[in-house]
Amino acid sequence: MKYVFGPVFSRRLGFSLGVDLVPFKVCSMDCLYCEVGATTEKTLNRAEYVPFDEVKSELSEFLKGNPDIDYITFSGYGEPTLFSRLGDLVKWIKDEFPQFKLALLTNSSLLHRDDVINDVREIDLILPSLDAATDETFKKLNRPVSGLTVNRVVEGILRLKSETESKIWLETLFVRGINDKKEEVERLGELVYKISPDKWHLNTVVRPPAYGVEGLSYEELSEIAKTVNYPNTEIIAKSVAKKRKMPVNELREEIYQIVVRRPCPVDEIADALGVLKEEVESIVEKLEEEGKVKTVFYGGEPYVKGISG
Ligand code: SF4
Repeated sequence: MKYVFGPVFSRRLGFSLGVDLVPFKVCSMDCLYCEVGATTEKTLNRAEYVPFDEVKSELSEFLKGNPDIDYITFSGYGEPTLFSRLGDLVKWIKDEFPQFKLALLTNSSLLHRDDVINDVREIDLILPSLDAATDETFKKLNRPVSGLTVNRVVEGILRLKSETESKIWLETLFVRGINDKKEEVERLGELVYKISPDKWHLNTVVRPPAYGVEGLSYEELSEIAKTVNYPNTEIIAKSVAKKRKMPVNELREEIYQIVVRRPCPVDEIADALGVLKEEVESIVEKLEEEGKVKTVFYGGEPYVKGISG
């Protein structure tokens, strides 16, 4: 499959089937921290960047087996709302496969537009980003297409909030020395309260970024969360998150519930549950002895597979 990938497991979305709606590297921004790489086509022009019919046929192929997934997630190598057939795709999935929930990861740059708001209206969960409270920081960190301002971005997220029924989980990614200063954090906090998302997710740089920037520590992110004090704030940055301490029985049950639905690599399980890889390994070993899971190989990689019943 070229446009559909996964499902992958994450703590935020559970099992999610990804759909790439823009190719490398079409985006309205060129963020310093981007994990995908530097933007080669910076644009606000919507177009059919990937062939609509092919995306539909790949999705159809996968969904007709009625897979056990939590979300179909629109993402891509750049900004997915740049895909001009997004609304058609949403409608088609809702008509043909209404049992599946939809999620969208977006940098919020086009949400101020009527056509985009209409396209995303039926999406169940939207995760818009807002990293800056001032244009100065926005330009430095997100390096948007010329003419795009923080006001525009906030206006778009507010439209999302007032004109759709979608659940909104706002995400802010903090970069050392750029958007972590007290004044910026306070202004960001004001915007978060104004937007009033269902959740506010704090993230930081954890994977190799497109340009040389550094992330914050878990303690620094906690400090920001404390300063803003918004209810329903979560630190989602995986590798800086404190490893959870969970009673073994509970952890055992969670691991089993994940792998009985779909085989998963140990790393992915540990990341998703926010626990140490070694802990997962030792529990998987026990589950294997009890005949509850087994190791299977896909593309040469080991996956833990649950045995039901
Ligand atoms: S908006 Fe997302 S895809 Fe685009 S440059 Fe920023 S991080 Fe990368």
